[in-house]
Amino acid sequence: MTKRTIEQILDELRKGRRPLLADKTAESDASRYDCPRCKDQGGYLIRQNGLEVWTMCSCMAERKVKRLLGASEITPTFRQLGFKEFCIEGKPHAIKDAFECAKEYVADYEQIKDARKNSIGLLGQPGSGKTHLLTAAANELMRTRHVPVIYFPFVEGFTDLKNDFDLLEAKLNRMKQADVLFIDDLFKPVNGKPRATDWQLEQMYSVLNYRYLNHKPILLSSELTIETLVRVDEALGTRIYEMCSDYLVIIKGAAYELNHRLEGVR
Ligand SMILES: [Zn+2]
Repeated sequence: MTKRTIEQILDELRKGRRPLLADKTAESDASRYDCPRCKDQGGYLIRQNGLEVWTMCSCMAERKVKRLLGASEITPTFRQLGFKEFCIEGKPHAIKDAFECAKEYVADYEQIKDARKNSIGLLGQPGSGKTHLLTAAANELMRTRHVPVIYFPFVEGFTDLKNDFDLLEAKLNRMKQADVLFIDDLFKPVNGKPRATDWQLEQMYSVLNYRYLNHKPILLSSELTIETLVRVDEALGTRIYEMCSDYLVIIKGAAYELNHRLEGVR
């Protein structure tokens, strides 16, 4: 066999001895791969100082975000919600405070995530946008910081779990272990009275106590004030207060548009 350089061999191959990916046109690449840039390899070789260097493709981060969003259990519609979609114009002070607080929390997250006061609580008035703001915070943590978040809507979440013990165990475990747990509408009141069964209290306590002991952050919305949360369950209420006290806004009743909740969600 005559001596040939690698370059010559590659050249011959490219000229049609065998069909190579490099021969395909850009058009067919684009339709064949999710990411034409790296042909779904997660990276590609570039020349650097005469060497071929493997470079990670940006689609890897995009895929990670997609995976995180999918696993979060936030509905596809709500995954679109950001701070941009939240309108503070003409809104009472408390709502502007809540808006600033949620944005600040995301900005501070990396520094505080392991601290005692590593959580955020938006409490009070229904329809004031608490869920929107915390959803925006959750989305931003996933999208820009790649932090896994699990969403747990208190009422619907427990309805789904009530009759399936295996599912319950798995879910409670995920709620304990997730980097961030978003609990929406904790102890949602019915006719002004906080509602939680002993069983729900027990499950919530085991999740929250675990997270408290292990310094794992929560995002919490509830119509109840801290005082009422403490009255519902003292140990649980005081832990929540300790965790959220640096990022805590209580929205007291004021006259404003009650359908605020639906803004930006279509
Ligand atoms: Zn790629």
